[in-house]
Amino acid sequence: MRIGFGSDIHRLEEGPPLMLGGIMIPSERGEAAHSDGDVLLHAIIDAILGALGAPDIGELFPPEAVRKGESSSVLLRSVMERLSPRIINIDTIITLEEPRLSGYKQEIRRSVASLLGIDEDRVSIKAKTAEGLGDIGQGLAVRAEAAILLE
Ligand code: MG
Repeated sequence: MRIGFGSDIHRLEEGPPLMLGGIMIPSERGEAAHSDGDVLLHAIIDAILGALGAPDIGELFPPEAVRKGESSSVLLRSVMERLSPRIINIDTIITLEEPRLSGYKQEIRRSVASLLGIDEDRVSIKAKTAEGLGDIGQGLAVRAEAAILLE
């Protein structure tokens, strides 16, 4: 078995969509990024790469290799096809002040399970706020973390 951990943070700004786990969440602010900025998928990709001892997401997909606004689902699918990780389970945390994600967690879970090709009961999506503290608490950024177990 091999464990992997990934973390990502993006600034939030008016204009781009808020993408989390391949789902567009209605929001006035979205991730500033070269790709679609999906912090959850970026954290998941880095967790998979970490478990396999592979180069990280920044090395694998440098900005010049990614189209502007590229869907992070495409990047994750590419990693799945290239490396064929056998996933036991994945646990994630999204930290975002607004909007509250409780109504979207199930949809995000379904999307992540589908992208990873595993059952939903092997995917955990947890959402929390930063209690108003720091940049995330001020609504300036969103963070995601992911731990993954492979066999
Ligand atoms: Mg990122």
